[in-house]
Amino acid sequence: MEKQYDVLVIGGGPGGTPAAMALAQGGKRVLLVEAGEGLGGTCLFEGCIPSKIFRETARRLRDIARAEEFGIHLPHQLVQLDWRKVQARKRAILQRRSAAAIHKAGRLSNLELLFGRARLTGSRTALIEPFKGDSAEITFSQCILASGSRPNILPVHGADLPQVYSSDRILEIGCIPERLVVIGGGPIGIELAQIFHALGADVTVMQRGPRILAGVDEELALALQQHLINQGIKLYVNCPVRNICHSGQGVFVQYDLDDGCEQVFATAVLTAIGRHPNLDDLGLERTAVNVDRHMIEVDKTLQTTEPGIYAVGDVVGQPMFAHWATAQGLALAAHLLDRAGPPFPQPQHNSAVIFSMPELAMAGLTEAQAVSAGIDVGVARYDFSRDARAQISGHDNGLLKIIYDKLDRRVIGVHALVDGAADLAGEAALLVRAGLPLEVIANVIHPHPTLTESFVGAVRTALAANR
Ligand SMILES: Cc1cc2nc3c(=O)[nH]c(=O)nc-3n(C[C@H](O)[C@H](O)[C@H](O)COP(=O)(O)OP(=O)(O)OC[C@H]3O[C@@H](n4cnc5c(N)ncnc54)[C@H](O)[C@@H]3O)c2cc1C
Repeated sequence: MEKQYDVLVIGGGPGGTPAAMALAQGGKRVLLVEAGEGLGGTCLFEGCIPSKIFRETARRLRDIARAEEFGIHLPHQLVQLDWRKVQARKRAILQRRSAAAIHKAGRLSNLELLFGRARLTGSRTALIEPFKGDSAEITFSQCILASGSRPNILPVHGADLPQVYSSDRILEIGCIPERLVVIGGGPIGIELAQIFHALGADVTVMQRGPRILAGVDEELALALQQHLINQGIKLYVNCPVRNICHSGQGVFVQYDLDDGCEQVFATAVLTAIGRHPNLDDLGLERTAVNVDRHMIEVDKTLQTTEPGIYAVGDVVGQPMFAHWATAQGLALAAHLLDRAGPPFPQPQHNSAVIFSMPELAMAGLTEAQAVSAGIDVGVARYDFSRDARAQISGHDNGLLKIIYDKLDRRVIGVHALVDGAADLAGEAALLVRAGLPLEVIANVIHPHPTLTESFVGAVRTALAANR
């Protein structure tokens, strides 16, 4: 470790790592410090990747269950899940991805990667405590805080029982729980509820509010709720959990009802009630960095209230997505290098996928957000029940909504709920980012049979209705 760096980056997740690499490639002397077991952050070790690996197995099981429908006769249906193998496959993929990232970092001569903890000791100094070797104080010209987030703890009695899991811990679970209660109907809760249900658990979702996925297009969120119920997941809305108490081999999750209290038995409970930034032990109190409602306050260039100290990713709050953290990191790197590069990302251009079954893809504004912004909103719709690709795949229950401004017919939002919607998200993001008018989309030839034909189908119907 040297004593002086141009940039100190704290946190090697999807926010910090690309920023550190881009800065080193641009000629800055960079120290990247990561406190985890490898390079990749929550996304790689406790988030996006492990959850989607489990989901892949869940989807294959689900497809096998429908084999007869597709003309595949499985005479002795002895399908067995080898969970140890699923976990081993997960570990192998995580290790491979982390090793590739470490290898890439190692090839950048200006970048020093250190595993250990970093803590600010002043506005231009930090104490670095490597897992191997001696601690040292370093100075830097600029710093990027990219320390990510961790799960919120349910503030009820019994939340610390061994049967109660956070999303981090449940991804390490040794077997599929017999009866799983998921507390929280946000993206993480819904994804994991459907995954464990498809893997064989009896699942109940308890959501405090009136519906799942607050903030997502209401029509699609309610349609997804119906999918959950049809799949056999029990869904309780307006259901605040009051208590968790130990009982024999499991726990009782007690929740409030208007006229009293009810309880559900579970062998495991997943709490997925949101996440909060990792700010403890960053030494922020030694600086002028301001924290507002547990999030680091930043300006339009992601600079904190301490000049020269910046923050990206989950530490600055919503939206908490890996691609958002990366977009911020890369925009900031270009800014610090004083080079033309990607612009700082704007929330109205963000896209995301909730990997529910079916998937829910979204880009830009929802209908409700556009209405409350005072826009004269039009909605172009496409029902996937008439879509060739959806019919072929056997998943034709879905809807696409293109939200546009009636004034100039430019797209301001796209929302889709259908199996395969994740593969529509890129085009959705492009339509929103470019603000394309419906007339242009209507004339773009889309390949047949693909789900992307839905974009053309939706806008042609809307244009015909407005002629
Ligand atoms: C179950 C789950 C599923 C998810 N699925 C998706 C998905 O499908 N798509 C998507 O876009 N997003 C998904 N996310 C969200 C995504 O993981 C996060 O938004 C993303 O990882 C944030 O990146 P980050 O770089 O800000 O922070 P992180 O990825 O959390 O990285 C921060 C890093 O900083 C390190 N660190 C913290 N403090 C210090 C310190 N003092 N010194 C040194 N290092 C430190 C940590 O060890 C960590 O590795 C999911 C999250 C979860 C929990």
